[in-house]
Amino acid sequence: MSQTKAIDRFFALASSTKERHAFAGGPRIVAIETVIPFDVMPGLILVRLHTDAGTVGGVPVIGHGESYYLPEAVAAVLHEWMSARLLGADATAIESHWRFLYERCIAFGGTGAELRALSAVDLALWDILGQLTDRPIWKLLGGPVRDWIPVYNSCGGPSYGGRKLEEPRRQGWPGHGDLGKPGHLQDNWSSINTPGDLAEELLAAGYRAMKLWSFDRIYQESGGQRITHADIAQGVAPFHAIRERVGKKIELMLDGHGFFALPAALRIAHAMRDIDPLWMEDVLRPDCIETMRQFREGAGVPIAVSEMLVTRGLYRQALDRQAADYVMIDPTWVGGISESKRIAELAQVYNVPVLMHDCTGPLTLMAGLQIAASVPGVTYQETVRAHIATIYPHLIDDQLQVQEGHLPLPKRNGIGIRLLPQLFSTDQPSYRKSSL
Ligand SMILES: [Mg+2]
Repeated sequence: MSQTKAIDRFFALASSTKERHAFAGGPRIVAIETVIPFDVMPGLILVRLHTDAGTVGGVPVIGHGESYYLPEAVAAVLHEWMSARLLGADATAIESHWRFLYERCIAFGGTGAELRALSAVDLALWDILGQLTDRPIWKLLGGPVRDWIPVYNSCGGPSYGGRKLEEPRRQGWPGHGDLGKPGHLQDNWSSINTPGDLAEELLAAGYRAMKLWSFDRIYQESGGQRITHADIAQGVAPFHAIRERVGKKIELMLDGHGFFALPAALRIAHAMRDIDPLWMEDVLRPDCIETMRQFREGAGVPIAVSEMLVTRGLYRQALDRQAADYVMIDPTWVGGISESKRIAELAQVYNVPVLMHDCTGPLTLMAGLQIAASVPGVTYQETVRAHIATIYPHLIDDQLQVQEGHLPLPKRNGIGIRLLPQLFSTDQPSYRKSSL
């Protein structure tokens, strides 16, 4: 072989390795499917990775993933960009795919739709590995570290993040979900209007912690740059009502959805001191780690930071700067199960407890449970009982049952549930498929 031909062959091999990483042995990814369930949760994107691995226990090995927010953009990233790496590649080379795609995402600051697409892929790859080995993912991650996973109820209602009848394709702005209306499981409405009744109902159902979003409407009316004493009184009123009704039988948390500037956030925090919350979360806008540190220094209540940080580098900065009493992670935003575990373990170095986020889809919850089952530092998994009861049954093939404020460790192999196959229908206008 001439030197020129050898060099050509070397670069051809290097190129194919970089583009495909078709490592010998593993089953290949042969198709990527996505669909946006506009009729159920229009901000969600559901993903399936098909393989040539055949079946396990008579069930085809198909990886399931999801992410939440700007689903059309995530679909474009998957089909028009990441498919070049994934189709034909080894479905078990999880870390290789993660690192390859991550480095290309962050090459131009792509921590939005790009990282959400990578998150969905990572969930699906772990699901495939769990199915191939016939084990739940938490076993592959070294679990169990507990028998049950403590959960709390976030007070969203069935229509928060769900389909709006008048605008079925509109997903809404982040943190601007529906307040809802009176009725069963209308926890957002009830947390504002009948908070004592709701606390009693949750206690009777076994919950020991609940999170309220009572300052959202104040931001929506006044913009978050400043906040009046009357607004403060309105925002903390549900917390006082709960304390008066049930005392400290239930832990209380406030999520501000990243709406407030520093002086307003500090004023809210000072008003919350009497409530003695378990934590306050994202009351401050998450722009600046140094301001987060200032906020925690002045707040006088524990501060949770923040599913909005998204990258491990920013979580490290928040921990280094002592801006967090708790670290909150959304596995379908930060880069999947792989990156969630790394961030959770990073937080353990600092002895900062970890919270797993939900309100963004059933596989987000299942991925959080896999982390909670395998990382001792996780202290709570967020749940929205209204979503578990009214939205998730339209998406997954199993029911999740919160018992005495806990969820069991996932028992089935892989990620623990399957997305309903009928959702991936060519009749759906958002359905897309890329194949070998
Ligand atoms: Mg939150």
